[in-house]
Formats: sequence, C-alpha cells, structure tokens
Amino acid sequence: MSAGGEGELTLTVRMKVSPEPEQQQAILDLMRRYRDALNYSIRAVIANKALSLNRAHRLLYEDLKERYGLPARVAQDCYREAIAIAKSWLRNPRRGSTPTVKGLSVRLTHGLSYRVYGDHVELLGDYRLRVIGWDRRYDNFPGRDTKLMFRDGEFTLYVTKRVPRPTKYAPKGVLAVDINEKQIVVGNSRVEIRVETPIERALHYRRLAERLQEKYSSTRYMAWRRRSGVRRRIRRFYRKARNIIEDWARKTAHTIISLARQGQLAVAREDLTGLVESLRKLPKEHRVALIALGYRRLAFWIDWQAEKNGVPLFVVDPTGTSSTCPRCGAELMEVGHRRLRCPKCGFEADRDTIAILNIERRALSQMGGTLTSPTALQMTYVNPNR
Ligand SMILES: [Zn+2]
Repeated sequence: MSAGGEGELTLTVRMKVSPEPEQQQAILDLMRRYRDALNYSIRAVIANKALSLNRAHRLLYEDLKERYGLPARVAQDCYREAIAIAKSWLRNPRRGSTPTVKGLSVRLTHGLSYRVYGDHVELLGDYRLRVIGWDRRYDNFPGRDTKLMFRDGEFTLYVTKRVPRPTKYAPKGVLAVDINEKQIVVGNSRVEIRVETPIERALHYRRLAERLQEKYSSTRYMAWRRRSGVRRRIRRFYRKARNIIEDWARKTAHTIISLARQGQLAVAREDLTGLVESLRKLPKEHRVALIALGYRRLAFWIDWQAEKNGVPLFVVDPTGTSSTCPRCGAELMEVGHRRLRCPKCGFEADRDTIAILNIERRALSQMGGTLTSPTALQMTYVNPNR
C-alpha cells in the first residue's frame, strides 16, 4: 500500500471471499503446496543466482509442476514471487538466514490465474469463491498483483490497482490532529473532538499473553509449552493486541479525513519521527511499544487516506506545540492540571486545546496565502473546558 508513480496511486483493494464448502479443502491443499514450493524456490533462486524470469523458469518450472503439483500458471506465479522475495532479501545489508514463508498465501495474475465476475471470483478455472464484500470505488481499474491469503479461518483476496492520484482541493481552513498516549484531539479554532486511544484495551491482551507465557515457562510445564496449542494461544493474544491498534488507527484516520473532506479543510498533524525515536530508546516495555505502534500507524493511515481522497496534508514541527501561546507566541505557565496561561496576553486553555491551536497556526503559516476563504484566518478561541 504505497504511493505509485507521478500522477498515480497504487492501492490495495481487500475482498473477503469464501469458497464453496466442498472446495475449501482443495484450495487449502493448493495453498500449502504453493507455500512449500515457494520456500523451495526461494532457496533454489538464491543458491543458483537465478534472479531473472528466464533462469528461474528453466531451473524450477518442471519441478514445481511435477513435485508440488502446481498448475502451470501457478508455477509461474510461484517462481516470480520467489525472485521478488530473494531480491529484497539480497538487497538487505543486515539480512539474516534465508527467508522462509510461513503463512498461507498464493500469488495470482489477474486475468490468467483468476477472474472477478460481479459476485464471485474464479480461480484457475476450477474454483469458485463467493465475494462477501469490497470497496467498489475502484472496480473500473484493472487489477495487478494479487494475493489470496488464508488467516484466522478466513480467505481474503488482496488486489493491487493503480488509480489516478486525486487532485487536492484548495482548503478553506485546517483540521489539526494532536496525538497523545490516552487520546487524540482533532479540531481547530472552531471545533474540537476527542477520541480515546485503545492502548488499555490492547494492553489487556498483551498481559494475557505474558501470563500464559509465564505460566508455561516453569520447568513443570516445559513439555506443555512445546505443545503448539499453548504457543498458538500466546501468539493469538499478541496478534489481537496489534490488530486492536491497527483497526483503531485505520478507522480514526478515516473519520478524520472524512471530516476534513466535508469541510474542505486541510489536515495538519505533528511530525512524530522524533517522538517515536525517543520512545524507541526507552526500556522495552509493552505499553511503550504499543504507544509507538499506535503513533506510527495513525500517522501512516492519515497520510495514506489524505492522499487517496485528495485531502491536502501538512506535517508540522512539533517543538513547543503544547507550551507556547497560540495567540502571541510567549512561553505559557502552568496554572493547574494540564491547564496553561500566557503571562503576556492572558490567554488560558487546556494543554490539548493549545496543541490543536498551535498545529493549526503552523499549518496556516505553511499554507501562506493559499486559503480560499479569508474568514478562516479569523481565530476565535473556543474553550470547551471553561
Ligand atoms: Zn499569549
């Protein structure tokens, strides 16, 4: 899910699909054979330096069909994927041991190994998968790289598409986003919305994972621990914690971008690079790791959704956003829990409101005179906490 070339965006459309019950086992078998074939191919491609399609074809094509029973088309997709994985591994200067693919997924070529027909997908002519739901906005753009994945009992098809980059509108004002550990604040000099972060909820699952790990790490349980059931449960708790953060980040970003689009506002967020870096230097603790993950993912989704929806975006310098006066720029004084007052002009507000106003102001100054509505520059300070 990254930006494409000039004037184009590469995006991934996610389709939930479900095979006919009598075909599910056959599809899973094919996916397992594909995974084994892929791991075999990665090693062969690296060992023989067969990084071109021609060389890989000569080296692997017959093998993949005969030993792994892959259909001709899938065998080609398989060594193609092996080359891509091998190349990115070889490019990594700090590479570890040869990469091994563990999850179940199959790479497919649009129009050759699969086709989409309205409400179903046809795989290799033999298998039908019902499409349960997807984002229909990009139906008219041809699919490119595609992956069928099986995880947590569900099949998902990821279809990569290139679409024209939407033109950004000229903003009438700014919607600022202030990201904190417990909540994020979205607003400007006229509105303010507060959204709680899911850190506590995610931590709950990480604690469950740890408790299980502790319990089964005593010598009494060594044999038990090796049992895949326990390991799977621990892994599931960790994944659940990460998923909670990811879901929240994606949905929150979507809400922010929709709000901005409705009001034809630009979105402004702080540059979080320094903050995430400083968190990374702290002792490895789950809370800190989850907070850093939340920051990174929210910033990622805000940027991406802005790009996809043609919403202008400003990333501003975070220095002093919650300690300088948004009206006159003087250093603020603390006058209560999270409340600050300006000794020069008397302005007083809650720390988060101050951050929002400063982020808004910095974005406005970055914009210069490009605002379409002159009234947007009139700052009327609302203070919901007074
Ligand atoms: Zn002031």
